[in-house]
Amino acid sequence: MNFVRIILKPKKEQSILRFHPWVFSGAIAHIDGDPEEGDVVEVYSNRKQYLGSGHYAGGSIAVRIFSFEKTEAGIDFWIDKISTAKRLRETILLPSGTTNAYRLIHGEGDSLSGLIIDVYNKAFIIQCHSIGMHKMRNNIKEALLRVFADDVVAVYDKSANTLPKKYAAENVDEALFGTPQESEILENGHRFLVNWEKGQKTGFFLDQRENRNLLAKYAKGKSVLNTFCYSGGFSIYALQAGASKVHSLDSSQAALDLTDKNVLLGNYPKEKHKNIKADAVEYLKNLKEDYDIIILDPPAFAKHRSAKHAAIQAYKRLNENAISQIKSGGLIFTFSCSQVIDKNLFQSSVTAAAISAGRKVRILHQLQQPADHPINIFHPEGEYLKGLVIEVE
Ligand code: SAH
Repeated sequence: MNFVRIILKPKKEQSILRFHPWVFSGAIAHIDGDPEEGDVVEVYSNRKQYLGSGHYAGGSIAVRIFSFEKTEAGIDFWIDKISTAKRLRETILLPSGTTNAYRLIHGEGDSLSGLIIDVYNKAFIIQCHSIGMHKMRNNIKEALLRVFADDVVAVYDKSANTLPKKYAAENVDEALFGTPQESEILENGHRFLVNWEKGQKTGFFLDQRENRNLLAKYAKGKSVLNTFCYSGGFSIYALQAGASKVHSLDSSQAALDLTDKNVLLGNYPKEKHKNIKADAVEYLKNLKEDYDIIILDPPAFAKHRSAKHAAIQAYKRLNENAISQIKSGGLIFTFSCSQVIDKNLFQSSVTAAAISAGRKVRILHQLQQPADHPINIFHPEGEYLKGLVIEVE
């Protein structure tokens, strides 16, 4: 097949030769043709050396590379990619007897910029962030069926919210294979219901799996406030670990309903758990109860670089309220999933919060995303989840 060729300016091939998956528009000398967003293109150096194949994106990121070797990107390419991702998950022991929900494809971390695939037991949820990936969804589904065979009951495309708006308007979320809309999953032995059709993101926050385990380690006999609880991930671990009481807070009633379902599913004593529908920042400001442990896991406050400053202020306010209010000797599990706020910046915001609160604070743990959300070493931007466990004297 003849693909449109993108020729870079002299010396602009360096980052691609180091396997960085993006081509910025400023690096392009000229384009041999008139590609549309989502088309497969080939990228060449100024001296006409082939560098990689990718999806044309047209914005400041002009091309997202998916292969550094020439390819037609047909079914064989996808079988190879899915098999490689499966092999890596097997290396890190996923799935296991106690965990059957995990991320199979993590965008750049799996050298597939623009693609996420999450697995909930035997349901595979595809989430595309680029038109190019979305156009390949049928090959992706086919490759999943070939590689996972009988271990697939459903393949669902949930991309309407993550694709460019104009294109997304012509595409709906839909089942590409099978029909189930809900799965019961096991995570470190904890049962959860996941509804990918109605839920946020692909249905469940898989990236907190190991951090929830750490909470469980400290939760026995403790009173826990889980703010931004969504479907109650941290709450369920705390209940299972024998917390004296767990309060789950979210501003969304739908999220609290999911939490209720999961508390019911695990048969935890009802009197130990309570839902609170509130704005987390406001609630923490006027906290009436003493908690031993508070979890702060807000949605990304900064989705773009332009929102960075406001986001830093928001993290500071949230953390300041929690640090001011928590019981002496209490622990705070505090997180940021904003890609543009790096580890150091996040820690600085928490430091600023501690200064304003005027309390002694120690860092006990530095947390991150789990290994099924790998970080391409040439694309450090992929390190998005940061967390700290702090003790407030
Ligand atoms: N900790 C969760 C994931 C959090 S996702 C887990 O482990 O699964 C972020 C959640 O924050 C969403 O459920 C969203 O409804 C909620 N949220 C967003 N803004 C909020 C606010 N101002 N106050 C309380 N909850 C909020």
